[in-house]
Amino acid sequence: MAKLELINLNKTYNPKVIPVKDISIDVDEGEFLTLLGPSGCGKSTLLRLIAGLEPATRGKVVINGRDVSHVAPGKRNIAMVFQSYALYPHMTVYDNIAAGLRLRKMPSDEIRQRVQDVAQKLGLQNLMDRKPGQMSGGQRQRVALGRALVRQPDVFLLDEPLSNLDALLREQVRADLKQLFEKQQAPVVYVTHDQTEAMTLSSKVAVLYDGNLQQLAPPHEIYTRPANQFVAGFVGSPQMNLLSLNCEGNNAVLGDFRISLPNLATPPSHIVLGIRPEDVHLVKPEDTLTIQGEIFLVENLGMQNLISVRVKGSDLKIRALLPASQRWEGEDVTLSMAPQAIHWFDVKTGDRIMGRDRD
Ligand code: ADP
Ligand code: MG
Repeated sequence: MAKLELINLNKTYNPKVIPVKDISIDVDEGEFLTLLGPSGCGKSTLLRLIAGLEPATRGKVVINGRDVSHVAPGKRNIAMVFQSYALYPHMTVYDNIAAGLRLRKMPSDEIRQRVQDVAQKLGLQNLMDRKPGQMSGGQRQRVALGRALVRQPDVFLLDEPLSNLDALLREQVRADLKQLFEKQQAPVVYVTHDQTEAMTLSSKVAVLYDGNLQQLAPPHEIYTRPANQFVAGFVGSPQMNLLSLNCEGNNAVLGDFRISLPNLATPPSHIVLGIRPEDVHLVKPEDTLTIQGEIFLVENLGMQNLISVRVKGSDLKIRALLPASQRWEGEDVTLSMAPQAIHWFDVKTGDRIMGRDRD
C-alpha cells in the first residue's frame, strides 16, 4: 500500500532559522495532505526535505516502507509541481510531458500511450504542438501537472501550484485538481498559504507556524475545533473574533456583560474568547447570551454584510456576519450568540481550553 511517513523531521539552517521542527506526519494511500501556513513558516522547506532536494538535519522520510532519507531525489520516485511551472521553454507540450519518461528510457510506444492518456485527462490534446510561450498561465500549469501525472510516482508534491493564476482561473483549476487527484492512489502533499485551497482540496490539513505543527486534522475539524488560537485566527474568513478578557470568578468580562466560563478546576484570571463572525447574530430569540453595542463599520460583501460593533462599556470590538437581506435600525444593536458557539483559549499558551464541538 502506498504510504508516506515523515518521522521527527528537523531542518536547521542556523541557530536562528529552524524552519522545520520535529514534524511527524503519515500520508496514506489516496490521502491529500495540505501543508497550510503563512509565508516563511517552513512549508517549502518541508516539501524539499521530502523530495530530497535538501538533506534533513534530523529525522526520516519513509516511502512505501523504505527509508529514503539518504536516497538521491531522482531515485525517490516522487513527482513535484512548482509554482513557477518549470517547463522547458524550447520544447513542445508533448515533449515537456514526455521528457521525464525518455530520461528513464521507457519504450516510445508506452511513452506515447501515457502522454496521450494524461493529455486527455487534462484537456491538452489540441495543444500538444505548442510551446510554453504560446500558452496561458492556466494551460502551462496543466502541462506542469501532466508532467507529474505521467510519471505515475509513489508520491506527488505540489508547491503553491495555483498562486500564479488569477482568481477566477484559480477557482477553476482548483476544482479540476480535486477531481484529478481523487482518482490517484499515490499520497499527495500540497503546499499553500490559501485556506480555501486547503479546505476544499484536502482530506487532512497540517497547519504550520514557525516550523511547528499546530494541528493535523480533517478540514472540518480544523474549522470547527481549532487546536489553538493561531489556527483559530488563521483559518476562516472573515477571521474569528478573538478577545482577551479579564475574568471575575466564573465569568469572563466583556464590557458591561458577563459570559459564563466553561467548568474549569481553577478559574483563570484572563482568558481568550473566540467566536466566528457567522456565529454572532442580531438578537435571536433562542440565544441566551446577548450583548449591546454600537455599529461603527459596515462592509458589504455581496451575499453578506460584515458589521463591526463596539461593545457597550468597553473598547472591545466584535464583528458579525449577517445575511445581506437582514436590516437593522440605527447604530445601537443587540447581538447574540449561542454559548456553545464560543471557543475558549488559554491566554499564555494559546491552547484550546474548551468550546465548540466538544463534549
Ligand atoms: P514557506 O514555504 O512556508 O513560505 P520556506 O520553507 O521557504 O517557507 O522558508 C522557511 C524559513 O526558512 C524562512 O524563514 C526562510 O527565510 C528560511 N530559509 C529557506 N531557505 C533557506 C536557506 N537555504 N538558507 C537559510 N534560510 C532559509
Ligand atoms: Mg514556499
